[in-house]
Formats: sequence, structure tokens, C-alpha cells
Amino acid sequence: MHGSFNRTFDVVVAGGGIAGVAAAIQAARRGKKTVLVEKTVQPGGLATTGLVNVYLPLCDGNGRQVTFGLCEELIRRSLQYGPGDLPVQWGGEAAEDESGRFLCRFSPAAYVLALEEMLLENGVELWYDTLICDTVVVDGKVVAIEVENKSGHGVLHAGCVVDATGDCEVARRAGVPCLDDDNFLSIWALEYDRDAQGEWLLTPGVCMHVDGVPWSVEKAPPGTVYRGVSGRLVSDFMIRSREMLREHYRRTEQEGRTRKDQFVLTLPGMPQFRKVYCLDAARVLEAGENGRRFEDSIGLAGDWRQAGPVWEIPYRSLYPRVSVDGLLAAGRCTGARGDAWEVTRVIPVAALTGQAAGMAAALALENGVEVRSLDVKLLQRELEQCGIRLHLPDVGLAYPGA
Ligand SMILES: Cc1cc2nc3c(=O)[nH]c(=O)nc-3n(C[C@H](O)[C@H](O)[C@H](O)COP(=O)(O)OP(=O)(O)OC[C@H]3O[C@@H](n4cnc5c(N)ncnc54)[C@H](O)[C@@H]3O)c2cc1C
Repeated sequence: MHGSFNRTFDVVVAGGGIAGVAAAIQAARRGKKTVLVEKTVQPGGLATTGLVNVYLPLCDGNGRQVTFGLCEELIRRSLQYGPGDLPVQWGGEAAEDESGRFLCRFSPAAYVLALEEMLLENGVELWYDTLICDTVVVDGKVVAIEVENKSGHGVLHAGCVVDATGDCEVARRAGVPCLDDDNFLSIWALEYDRDAQGEWLLTPGVCMHVDGVPWSVEKAPPGTVYRGVSGRLVSDFMIRSREMLREHYRRTEQEGRTRKDQFVLTLPGMPQFRKVYCLDAARVLEAGENGRRFEDSIGLAGDWRQAGPVWEIPYRSLYPRVSVDGLLAAGRCTGARGDAWEVTRVIPVAALTGQAAGMAAALALENGVEVRSLDVKLLQRELEQCGIRLHLPDVGLAYPGA
């Protein structure tokens, strides 16, 4: 029957991608009654439903681990039910990765099994197939989200909401200003390739063949902008990306491959936008701010594209510049612009900001304060207890020019 319902939680985590998973686990570990609300039917977001299958590095590219905490637990769990492994120099059994970096590939489906198990082990209530469709704001504070699922229309009251929807669904509905950016067209799919050989054979002949092939990334022709900011644009992106895949198979057929020896096995179940909306946060991380000290740093992130740069992530990038309370952002929703967003939007940093958001939400409730008024030193002490290193000198790095 289609009805209406009300539930109350300490922490409501909106969106079950890696950021949401980390936020929910951290809040639950702190003893908070936590729900994870997800519109698909599995956790992981882009990392699973979106078929992204490379857990990018936890290190600086010079042999030094910089990101710790749940980020590290989650990289190890990504291998629990799958065939991948970490490079030997990072405690695994796989041959040394040629980049020398602390990263791994994983099977998205295997990761779903591990993530869900981890959430349940930690006592997180899971609400799948549940669409967040509105936010309730009272006197400048987010107090609830509205959802739709098979049971009808529900209101989930919260002491604090973590927006981990990947595109600020909660924040925007609360009237919080957000930033947006362009995307290029790409499609990552899982493909059967009879001739493929290598470690990514899942069963004989089935290969995770997703990257490094000419069709996987197509730069937008001049004048074409791919954005995920409207229903029409999302649909167009999906149609165009699959058209690109059909073009690819027509091309390979002309080159002599047949659909018996090469075909697409699984397509992404969500749009593969890299950047849609992020928070116009109290402190937006800007390009070139790697190596900069932030007194309110919640952890460190390397640059997945190159060895060297390490970023401190300010706590202020997790809450809005405007004074809307009861709301934190995590993952690719946290406040960053341009090149800095390239660094914060990937899996390890989503895990880091998710954990920080979950911890901050729990501490704010315990101390009866709003998240923006939380004692940052207290937050930092608790994150350090979880093994997180906050500042460059904590991992033996100096500030440039120091
Ligand atoms: C093509 C592509 C390749 C990439 N390659 C890599 C890579 O190799 N390695 C890497 O580390 N990163 C990569 N990334 C980036 C990375 O995968 C993501 O940015 C990261 O996983 C983001 O995690 P998140 O939790 O912030 O958001 P998401 O993974 O987007 O999770 C958000 C979740 O919220 C849910 N949600 C959204 N709206 C609602 C709603 N209204 N109601 C309920 N639920 C909702 C979604 O269903 C989703 O599960 C890639 C991204 C893309 C697009």
C-alpha cells in the first residue's frame, strides 16, 4: 500500500557511494543510529554501479602513504571477494605496480558484496531503492529529508544529514549554493573478449576490459559541453555514450572481430559524470593549493595523476558557506574547484571526506553543537585516533618554501 511514514535517526547519510559508505560506517561506529539511503539497490555508487574499478592511490607517488583510516580499510575490503591484489610493496601479493603506487583494481560486483557486509557489521540501517526527493529546512537548519520508495512517501528526521549523493541533491534542495563543472564523454563498460589474456580474467574469456582502449575516452568536440545539471542533459549523455559504444563495435566488426568473440557484458547503471555539483563551501579548495597548510585539515590526499603533490583537506570544505546548519557534504560533493576537484572527486578522497563527515556529524550531536561550530581540534584528535594523518609533517613531508 502506498502510504506515508516518519522515522528518526541521529545521522542520515544521503547516497551510498564510497563517501556515503565511509560516513555511515564512521557515524555507526561512534554509536549513532545511522541510516544510509540509496536510490539504486546496492552500495558503492560510481565505484560499483558505475563500473569504475580502480581504487586510486593512497600514496604520494614517492613511496609514502598519505591517506589512512577507513580509506585503507576500504581498499583492502575491495579485494575480499574478488581476484585483485595490492602490489607487494604495499603489503599485497601482486607484482610491483609499475607506477609504484598504493592502488589496486577490483571487481565492482565483488566490492558490492564486501561493502554491504561491512555496513551491516557496523549496524548501519540500509534503505535501498529509496529516492531522496526533498529536504526539510526549519529556521536555517536541515532537519529531515523526504524520500519515496515502495512503502510510499517518507520523512526521515535527522540530527545531521551527510550529503554524499555525488551531486549535492540534499544541499541544492535546501537552497544551498553549489558549483558545477564540465565533463568529457566517456563510457566504461565490462566486456567479454575471447582473446583477452591476463590477470583480469574473471572466468575464462571474461575480461574487465574498460580502459586504455581508443573508444573509452572521447574528448568532446569543440562547442559540445557535457554536463549533468538537468534531466535532459543526463539523458543525452547516456544516449551519446552508448552510441559511442555501438560505433566502437561497428568499427571492430569491420576490423574482423565478431560478436561471438567480443561483446559488451555489463553497462554502467548510473551516469558516469565526474563532476556535477559540489558545495560552495565555507572554504572551497582551489587549484594549486597542494602543499598548503590548513589548520582545520581532516586528512591528506595525494594527486592520482602525478607523483609529488599532497593536499591537506580543510574541514570547512565539508559545510556550506551560507549558514545552513545540520548539513555536511562528503565525496565529490565537497567544496573544490577545477583542478582541486580532480583530486577530491576520486575514491580514496571520497572515503577520507566521508569518514570525516561521519565523525563530525557524530561529534556535533554528542556535544550539542552545529557542525560549523564543532571544535576542530576535537574532530582532529578523534580522526587521529582512527590512524588518519592530518598535516604534511605527520608523514614526513615539509611545506614548500619552509
Ligand atoms: C568514468 C569515470 C571514471 C573514474 N575513474 C576512477 C578511477 O579509476 N579511480 C577512482 O578512484 N575514481 C575514479 N572516478 C571517480 C570516482 O569513481 C567517483 O568520483 C567516486 O567514486 C565518487 O564517490 P561518491 O561517493 O562521492 O559519489 P557517487 O559514487 O556518485 O555516489 C553517490 C550515490 O548517491 C546516490 N544518489 C544520488 N542521488 C540520490 C537520490 N536523490 N536519492 C538516493 N540516492 C541518491 C547514487 O545512486 C550513488 O550511489 C571515475 C569517475 C568516472 C565518472
